[in-house]
Amino acid sequence: MTVSSAANAQPEILRGEGLPNFEAITPEAVSEHIPALMQALESELGDLEQSLGQRLEQNQTLSWNDVMAPLQRLGERLRWSWGVVSHLNGVCNSPELRDAHASQQASVVQFGNRAGQSQVIYRALQQLEAGRSGLDGTQQRILDAELRDMKLRGVGLSGASKEAFNSASQSLAELSTRFGNHVLDATNHWTLRLTHAAEVEGLPESLLGQLAQAARQAGDEDASAEQGPWLMGLDMPRYVPFMKYSRRRDLREKVYKAHVSRASGQDGSDLNNWPLIEEILTLRRQQAERLGFANWAELSIASKMADSEQAVESLLEDLRGAAYPIAQQELQALASCAQAHGAPEATELQPWDISYWAEILRQESFELDSEALRPWFPLPQVLDGLFALSERLFGIRIEAADGEAPIWHPDVRFFRILEQGQPVAGFYLDPYSRPGSKRGGAWMDECLVRSKGTDGSVVLPVAYLICNQSAPVGETPSLMTFDEVETLFHEFGHGLQHMLTSVEHPQAAGINGVEWDAVELPSQFMENWCYDRATLMGMARHWQTGEALPESEFSKLLAARTFMGGSATLRQVHFALVDLRLHSQWTPESGVTPEALRREIATTTSVLAPIDEDAFLCSFGHIFAGGYAAGYYSYKWAEVLSADAFGAFEDVGLENEDQIRETGRRFRNTVLSLGGSLDPKQVFEAFRGRQPSSDALIRHSGLVAV
Ligand SMILES: [Zn+2]
Repeated sequence: MTVSSAANAQPEILRGEGLPNFEAITPEAVSEHIPALMQALESELGDLEQSLGQRLEQNQTLSWNDVMAPLQRLGERLRWSWGVVSHLNGVCNSPELRDAHASQQASVVQFGNRAGQSQVIYRALQQLEAGRSGLDGTQQRILDAELRDMKLRGVGLSGASKEAFNSASQSLAELSTRFGNHVLDATNHWTLRLTHAAEVEGLPESLLGQLAQAARQAGDEDASAEQGPWLMGLDMPRYVPFMKYSRRRDLREKVYKAHVSRASGQDGSDLNNWPLIEEILTLRRQQAERLGFANWAELSIASKMADSEQAVESLLEDLRGAAYPIAQQELQALASCAQAHGAPEATELQPWDISYWAEILRQESFELDSEALRPWFPLPQVLDGLFALSERLFGIRIEAADGEAPIWHPDVRFFRILEQGQPVAGFYLDPYSRPGSKRGGAWMDECLVRSKGTDGSVVLPVAYLICNQSAPVGETPSLMTFDEVETLFHEFGHGLQHMLTSVEHPQAAGINGVEWDAVELPSQFMENWCYDRATLMGMARHWQTGEALPESEFSKLLAARTFMGGSATLRQVHFALVDLRLHSQWTPESGVTPEALRREIATTTSVLAPIDEDAFLCSFGHIFAGGYAAGYYSYKWAEVLSADAFGAFEDVGLENEDQIRETGRRFRNTVLSLGGSLDPKQVFEAFRGRQPSSDALIRHSGLVAV
C-alpha cells in the first residue's frame, strides 16, 4: 500500500480504476474535477488524432494497439468517472448532485460526439479493417461495430450530403422533442371533473385519493377521496385503473376516446402530431438513403441481431397467427362474463369495455391477490433461492462480502461470485426504495467491466443491481410481491451476463457489443425460473410460520401469467408491424396516409377494429419521440430467444438434475460467457444447436389451442 499526502493525492473521482469510494464523489468534486477531466480527454483525443493523422499521411501501418487501445483507455476513464456520478445521481440524488450532474452532461455528450465523428479515427479504423486478418474474431467484431456506428453518424459523408445529413439530424431531434411535448401537453390539458358519487362507482380507494389530490391541485381546496370532487386525467396512473374499475360505461367511453385521440388535433387544438409524423418519416427515409440504405427499417436492422425486415415480419407473423384465434376466444369470454352479469353491452363490446370486463373475469377466475402473497417472499429467502439456482445451473458460488467494498447507503450489500474457490466477479445489491433520493424502477449497471491489462492482470467485473421494493420494518424483513421477485431475477440475469463474461476486450465483454434485440435474453430467461415449481416452491415459505406456498396459489400464478395472453401478444404485434412498415413501406408518394397503413394492418392484428377517433399513432412516443424507430419488434424478438432458451431446459426435463446442470453449464459457456464477442445468432446456435424458434414463447404465452 502506498501512502501519499492529501495535497498531491489524485482526487477519488478521477481515480479511473477499482471500486469507487462513493463518499468522496460529492457534488463539489463533480463540479471541481469533471471539467478538468473533460479538458484532459479532449486534448489527449486531439493528440491521438494528430499522431494518427501523421502516420496515415506517411502510409504507416497501424495496429490495434495504435488505435483501439488508446481510444479504449480514453473511453474507460470517462466511463469510470462519469459512471459513478450517474450512478449516484440515480441512487443518492440531491438537488446539489442533480445540478452538478446536469452542468457537466453536455460536455460529456459532446466528447462522445466528437470521438464518434472524427474523420482521422474513421480513416485509421478503415486501415485496420483492411488488414483485419491480423485481428482475432472478437477484435474484428468490435471493429465492425465501431465502423458501423461511425458510419451511421454520417462520418463517411462529405460536402453537400454531409451538410444535408447534419441539418436533417438536427431537424429530427427537434421534431421528436415537439412530438413528445405535444403528447405531454395533450395528456395534461384534458381533465374531467366528477362531482357525484355515482360517477366514481367502483373506483378503488387509492385511485379516489389520486383523483381528489388532482382536484385539490387544480383549485378544489376541500376535495377529498370520500366526498370529491374528483379530477380525472389521461396520465397512466389515473387512466389505467379508471378503465379497469369504473362501472360507468359512458365515462369509460369518454375517457377512452380522449386518450386515443391525444395530440391528433381532433379537439380543435393545435396539438396535432399528424404533420410531424409525415415529416419525421420522410426525413428518416432521406437520412437512410444518404447512408446507402433503402429505408429506415433497413438502417435500424443493420445494427441488430435480426438479419432482415423479412426475418422480423416472419417472426411477427408466427406470433400473430397463434395469438389471433386466442384473442378472439378471449373477447368471447369477456362477452360471456358481461352476459352473465346482465350487462347490455355483452352483445357488442367496445374497446372501452375490455379492461373493465377483463378485470372482473380475472378476479372471478382466480382471485389472485398479489399483496396477500408477500409473506411468502421475504428478501433473504428469495436471495437464497436465486443464488441456489444460479449455483446449480452455472457452477458458481455466491457469497456475502459485506464490508469488503465501500457502499453508498447502509442498506446496500456487496457479494462476490466464486468459481472453484477463486473470485470471478462481484456485485452490489441496493434493494429498497428511498422516495426522494432514489430513482424508481429496477436496473443493472456496470461498475467495473472485465478487461485484461497489457501486463496480463485481469480486472474482474462488478455490477450494480438496483431494485425498489419496500424496506424492512422493525423485525419484519422486506416482503416482496411476486412481480418484485420476477424483477429481481430479471436484473440478476443482466448481471450474470455482465459478471460471467469470459471476454477480455472490454468493448465486447458482458453486455457490451450485444445487439439491442438480443440484450434481454439472459434477463427474461431468468424470469422463467420464477414459474419453475422447484425454484418457486423452494424459496416461497411464509416468513413467520415456515409454511410452504399453498398449491392453489402456485396454480393461480401460472394462470395469471397467460391470462388475456392472446390479446396482449396481438397488441404488441400490431405496434411492431405498424412501426416496421411505416419505416419501410411508407413514403409521401405511396398514396396512403400513415393512418391508412395502420388501419390496414389492424384488419389482421386487432380483434376489435380501431374506432374512428383512434389516432394512436399521434401518441406513439416510442417510435416518434424515443429510440425505438423500426425497433419496437425487439421486445418480442428477445422474448422469443429467452423463451426458447428456457425451452432447452424443459426439453431435458426440469426434474432431470444431471441434464439441467449440463444445460446450465452450456448456457453459461455460450450466452453468459461470450457476450458481444460473437454474432448473437452464432451464440444462440452454440447453445441451442439450432436457430431460434417461436414455439416456446407461443406455448409460454398460452397461445396453443386447448
Ligand atoms: Zn432488462
